[in-house]
Amino acid sequence: MSPSADLPVDWLLEVNNLSCGYGNGSVVKDVSFSLSHGDIGCLLGPSGCGKSTILRALAGFLPLSAGEIRLQSQSISLPGRMVAPEKRRIGMVFQDYALFPHLTIADNVGFGLHKENRSEKRQKVMELLALVHLQDLADNYPHELSGGQQQRVALARALAPEPTLILLDEPFSNLDTDLRRRLSLDVRDILKTLGISAILVTHDQQEAFAMCDQVAVLKDGSIQQWDVPYNLYHEPANRFVAGFVGQGGFIPGKALGPDTIESELGIIHGNRAYKWPQGTLVDVLIRPDDIVYDADSDLKPKVVEKTFAGTSTLYRFRCSEDTEFEALFRSHLDFYLGENVPVRVEADHLIAFERTA
Ligand code: ADP
Ligand code: MG
Repeated sequence: MSPSADLPVDWLLEVNNLSCGYGNGSVVKDVSFSLSHGDIGCLLGPSGCGKSTILRALAGFLPLSAGEIRLQSQSISLPGRMVAPEKRRIGMVFQDYALFPHLTIADNVGFGLHKENRSEKRQKVMELLALVHLQDLADNYPHELSGGQQQRVALARALAPEPTLILLDEPFSNLDTDLRRRLSLDVRDILKTLGISAILVTHDQQEAFAMCDQVAVLKDGSIQQWDVPYNLYHEPANRFVAGFVGQGGFIPGKALGPDTIESELGIIHGNRAYKWPQGTLVDVLIRPDDIVYDADSDLKPKVVEKTFAGTSTLYRFRCSEDTEFEALFRSHLDFYLGENVPVRVEADHLIAFERTA
């Protein structure tokens, strides 16, 4: 055993078998995950799966029916016992910014600062505003700022009391696509510069992948997989994760061996071994980037749908009624609806699940 294996991991946040809900109902069921110091974690899942409910429990607004939450090795929530929200050193940023309309930007940011004297407070506020690139707007009011600027004020306000953890609940949902992308990367930079850990809630997987070190995929209040973005995409733990994360769909196949599947797209080899017996019927995940154009290929599925997206075009191909899949080609590879196009599978990760129905 290596010496490091004996050392306990120094987690910032540990969520152990958390269950909670509203009234007698349970919305979140047996959720466990841990976050290291300085990491950004994500709760990703469809609307209504319990993401905000978990944040409320972390923030101390919702009691637990089972499990425990620990922050810096201290228990902060157990069934029947909760550290009050204001004693947790956890900051929050919401979708709707929630700034105080009658206070200036500087006063919004300084709102939670009580220990400092007037000049210390002003200096700290100006440092935070510089961090989010808004020092010139210190004396303006929220309604004079754009949505993206207001959200940066909300972040500065949450950072002011020097929290150990920041919770961000769909913070970019009210912003347009370009701004979302830019701001999510800015926020990641700011958190990483300060070394502050965060949990981001989103239903947008691109945002989750761009911003977060670890992502939990949630369905109906349960974590399906807690992993780094690369593994969620390439090694999804189950069919739900495979379908929810990234684009793609399943085609039918038959196992020829642990890493080999026969399908209408030919023999597909993968880089991992499955345990199923030869002949098992399976569904194979095909992602749009697993398919390449190959003029020499004998496989010539028919174009049944075509979505032009500027630099690329997303095609839907059909081999037979059972076997349809998507492919993403650079847009100069231009085919017409109904055309038979020579393609082949070029996937290094073979993702397949035993057919249940
Ligand atoms: P998400 O943030 O993933 O969209 P939520 O955590 O807000 O989902 O909600 C999860 C479930 O809990 C939903 O079914 C929702 O209707 C229910 N819920 C949310 N808030 C309340 C509440 N205050 N009272 C009762 N049920 C609620
Ligand atoms: Mg929510």
